[in-house]
Amino acid sequence: MAKILKIIQEGDPVLRKKAELVENPKSPEIQQLVSDMIATMRKANGIGLAATQVGKSLRIFVVNIAEEKQKEEIYVFINPEIKDVSPDKSPFEEGCLSVEKIWGPVMRPKKLTIKTLNKNGDLVKIRAKGLLARVIQHEMDHLNGILFIDKAEKLYKIEEKK
Ligand code: ZN
Repeated sequence: MAKILKIIQEGDPVLRKKAELVENPKSPEIQQLVSDMIATMRKANGIGLAATQVGKSLRIFVVNIAEEKQKEEIYVFINPEIKDVSPDKSPFEEGCLSVEKIWGPVMRPKKLTIKTLNKNGDLVKIRAKGLLARVIQHEMDHLNGILFIDKAEKLYKIEEKK
């Protein structure tokens, strides 16, 4: 059974640590962590979640770029490495489950190629553009202790609706 994990908030030093390589992606512990991360991302209505955000300093992140709630499109990245990024960049409003109620535009390359282990521990190469490329770069930053607020051109605070 997958568990819902606590999402660490900005200010906790684990978010600023460079995450470590996963030595045994097929181990039951890692498989459990990946399932828990997917469940946690889903519960939080997130489109991406890095292991550092649940207090595990490991090079893992999960992404769900579903167009609609019914159609999930989940990707698992273990020990990912971005190989190529396009020279053309675009701004996009980003937010983060670890930085609540703050949004801001971040410039990032539009396309990239990433080499990674998938959920089964198999090495795959993914060419990404659009929202997927965006989320991959945001999550990859988490693994290197970087938050989008470090890169955003400006930040907006979203007022709580009463
Ligand atoms: Zn984030």
